[in-house]
Amino acid sequence: MNFSDLTSQPHRRFNPLTREWVLVSPHRTARPWQGQTEDVAAAAPVTYDPSCYLCPGNLRAEGVANPAYTGTFVFDNDFAALRPDTPAEEIQEKGLLVARSEAGRCRVVCFSPRHDLTMARMGVAELRQVVDTWAQEFSALGSDPNIRSVQIFENRGAMMGCSNSHPHGQIWANETLPNELAKEAAACREYWQLRGATLLHDYLQLELEKKERLLLANDHFVWLVPFWAVWPFETLLVSRRCVSALDQLRDEERTALAEILRQAAIRYDNLFRTPFPYTMGFHQRPTDGGDYPEFHLHAHFYPPLLRSATIRKFMVGYEMLGMPQRDITPEAAARWLREVPARHYLNER
Ligand code: ZN
Repeated sequence: MNFSDLTSQPHRRFNPLTREWVLVSPHRTARPWQGQTEDVAAAAPVTYDPSCYLCPGNLRAEGVANPAYTGTFVFDNDFAALRPDTPAEEIQEKGLLVARSEAGRCRVVCFSPRHDLTMARMGVAELRQVVDTWAQEFSALGSDPNIRSVQIFENRGAMMGCSNSHPHGQIWANETLPNELAKEAAACREYWQLRGATLLHDYLQLELEKKERLLLANDHFVWLVPFWAVWPFETLLVSRRCVSALDQLRDEERTALAEILRQAAIRYDNLFRTPFPYTMGFHQRPTDGGDYPEFHLHAHFYPPLLRSATIRKFMVGYEMLGMPQRDITPEAAARWLREVPARHYLNER
């Protein structure tokens, strides 16, 4: 198959990180579209919202007051999905009814005291604080002998089920490797054993050569649309140096990460001139005390939007029963994301 086939013929693409396939159907972009539309009425931005449970000084659930924080602020989620004191139990019947207890911790990270900001509209110095906070939390949670995985992520926008627009993310840390990290860790280990390099190091070299899916690059990070992307505007952020987690980033790499995160968020917002919804998160080495030279720090961005601020992609039908599918090719998505201005649309005047 040559490249012209990839732009017009139905084909499958392989994701080497999860070892799963995605169906790409570029010929379908010609069909008439009747997608879901939603109102995205923008709330008037306020720097402080007295009813927001994340703003400085405000009360949270159970009457705890937030401090008058000025940078980042981290606390245990008041409605945590995981609890550290969960007793160890297991059921197992004929390999068919299987369940195990799961202990862990859920943390909330406020990126800024300002209610109205987003990563796209924060300064590099402020985002650098967020990067440092993530790295600290990874180290602190990961050093607990009962924690084997630290998942740092941000859920943004009502479309992704995030009800509070105050800039914040979450950290879920637990006893075992969750599915996605387990798949990636296994694939990365096998690749390392076979080739003696990290999978993402070799993949990054290929993308830097081909250039057609590259979006942004600085001295330490590259932002691109992965060849195997499932979501229309799915992207991947990869460190140039082979580090296994945020805690291994040097001073200048942390600043470079803050810069590229800000730029990526701006491009996303500018694509449809709307605060762009997404789930983003870092994949980092398991924290079971093992050595993971094969694991290569990266972040995934999974935005739900399809071709406007109100039309979203659904994973239904064949995708629930068979495999994920996309119409717009990753190369076309990369072209669109590359073409938007580097300056945030709200800062145009
Ligand atoms: Zn990953």
